[in-house]
Amino acid sequence: MFSSRSKVHILYETIYYYKGTKMPIDSKKVACGDCGLQLEEDCGQLSENRLPCPACGSMRRVFQVTIRATVTFKKKLGIKGRHAGGGKPFIEQGHGDDLHRGTGKWMKKSRIINRENGLYKELVTDPETGDVVHECEEPLSQHVGHGDAGGKKENEE
Ligand SMILES: [Zn+2]
Repeated sequence: MFSSRSKVHILYETIYYYKGTKMPIDSKKVACGDCGLQLEEDCGQLSENRLPCPACGSMRRVFQVTIRATVTFKKKLGIKGRHAGGGKPFIEQGHGDDLHRGTGKWMKKSRIINRENGLYKELVTDPETGDVVHECEEPLSQHVGHGDAGGKKENEE
């Protein structure tokens, strides 16, 4: 995993959001846009409520927000095994990074669909802590069983 701290100069609050995930903000700083004096102002304060800079009287402001950005390479590996003569894969595996909807965190997800022994396995772990977030092993028929007994819709391409 690659991590880096980066400083991002922003103008609007909305940039804190990246693909629906709120970015963790380390610090917000407001400085005078002319002389650079650090000011004890809220970034969200409306410009008409501003007081002139105590040093130079300027109404211009520069906002500096430090965002803790974690840069990772997301990858996914998929494997499908088919018998000679084609047909539905008898085994499918997927291993890789998966954005967990509940927490907005990237997790390691592995799943194996084995049609030979009719088992479905899924394991989701937190790459930071190594904790198992979700683990399940169940008969494929039980996992897929959403109206279609053969599970044709699941993972067909
Ligand atoms: Zn100033």
